[in-house]
Amino acid sequence: MKTPKAKPIKIAIKLNNCADNPPCAICGQRTNPEIGPEFFLADSWALVCHPCAEKNAPELWALHHLKRTLAALSVALHAELAEPAATVIE
Ligand SMILES: [Zn+2]
Repeated sequence: MKTPKAKPIKIAIKLNNCADNPPCAICGQRTNPEIGPEFFLADSWALVCHPCAEKNAPELWALHHLKRTLAALSVALHAELAEPAATVIE
């Protein structure tokens, strides 16, 4: 007789527009969410923390991590490119 498999946890990236910090729907830890794309249970608006998203949906976590990395790189490049112009203005 087969042992029943645990039902996989389905996670989705949805736009978070609530400045709240609820516990993770999976582990109960603080989620520290940002406004914008965040991890939720696929069938609800229950937030999921990043470690749980990485464990249960590594492909979505990788995409979200890439987006955050590119956004940080964009800010750093913008600051670096703006620096010479600021020097000229002085
Ligand atoms: Zn969690």
